[in-house]
Amino acid sequence: MKMPSHESLEKYAELALSTGVNLQKNQLLMINSTIVGAEFTRIVARKAFEMGAKDVHINWSDDELTRMKYEYADQETLSEVPEWQQQKFTYFAENGAAILSIRSTDPDLLKGIDAGKVAASNKARSEAMATFRNYTMNDRIQWSIVSIPVPAWAQKIFPNETEETAVEKLWKQIFSIVRVDREDPVAAWEEHNQNLITAREYLNKKQYQKLIYKAPGTDLEVSLPKGHVWKGGPAKTVEGGVQFNPNMPTEEVFTAPHKYGVDGTVASTKPLNYGGNVIDNFTLTFKEGKVVDFTAEEGSETLQHLLETDEGSRRLGELALVPHESPISQSGLIFYNTLYDENASCHLALGKAYPNNVEGGSDMSEEELDQNGVNHSLSHVDFMMGSADLDIDGVLEDGTTEAVMRKGSWAITFE
Ligand code: ZN
Ligand code: ZN
Repeated sequence: MKMPSHESLEKYAELALSTGVNLQKNQLLMINSTIVGAEFTRIVARKAFEMGAKDVHINWSDDELTRMKYEYADQETLSEVPEWQQQKFTYFAENGAAILSIRSTDPDLLKGIDAGKVAASNKARSEAMATFRNYTMNDRIQWSIVSIPVPAWAQKIFPNETEETAVEKLWKQIFSIVRVDREDPVAAWEEHNQNLITAREYLNKKQYQKLIYKAPGTDLEVSLPKGHVWKGGPAKTVEGGVQFNPNMPTEEVFTAPHKYGVDGTVASTKPLNYGGNVIDNFTLTFKEGKVVDFTAEEGSETLQHLLETDEGSRRLGELALVPHESPISQSGLIFYNTLYDENASCHLALGKAYPNNVEGGSDMSEEELDQNGVNHSLSHVDFMMGSADLDIDGVLEDGTTEAVMRKGSWAITFE
């Protein structure tokens, strides 16, 4: 596979370690990566040691072996997650490690595999990772997700290109979107982060009671909990106050929808890659926060399994605003990778909400979170519903309404 220049790979590695997880001297680093990305992963590991990492641990995965397991292992085996696997993740979290995920996979990896098997395995993994997820979703550790091309993914985006050209084109896109092609990527990210901070602070002051979405196929009202907090751009660890960027790229500001306050219908605008299967052209109809009806042109069975994960997987856990002129959206490409597609489009997530999207949420019990409208679930799955046709109104405390987005762009001037 033809790789970009060593220099640009090093720049990307450095960006992921500094702006991404913000690796500290003498800190442990755990990297989740794929064997196809071995070359880049080694560059990241070397950089991490040079930056003073205490140790670097890699969890390797391989698409082919993953699929093989789904083909041969029975549902019961696929539903078992050995204790030591969970302990590995909590060990690193408890020991203050930074976690970098280099997430790249074939969007159609599990196409044709029994949907019941996939659902059972997804659920078991979500359950097993619940403790670890508490660390990431409450900003108790520094974590970040980046992507690199793998051939199957690149060819899904550029189906008419040879493998080599597709991969080359995807590297180019990634470097442009993640600002690696800038003279000083770290400085470019500082400026970008500042813009997101300005937007989230403005929205935090507004404290909209409700957002009203209107687009072809979408007519949806989403209440926001009292004391909701908009996040976006950099996060800070609760104890050490270390700043990190959980997602690279990121273009969103997001908050928690009220789990009991969602009514109407929303139509997806981009395909959703969920657990190795694609769900496309789907609608969800909500009543008092709960999905009561759905349709899907592709992946209907997968969507049904996702909705049936548990009680909370039928409710919303995230509401994110992304202007249509985001660089990812401007690329005009569909990435079949949520990290990229969600940052090209306004989106919502089914499932668990980030507790710190409400004031004091990190310290609330499960019951208190529920009383505050913050959803709980084993799953958290973003889906894209933004487009150049989306209008959003915000309803203020006093009942007056103002434009938040028009034709997919901010109707607000931030200052
Ligand atoms: Zn999001
Ligand atoms: Zn999300």
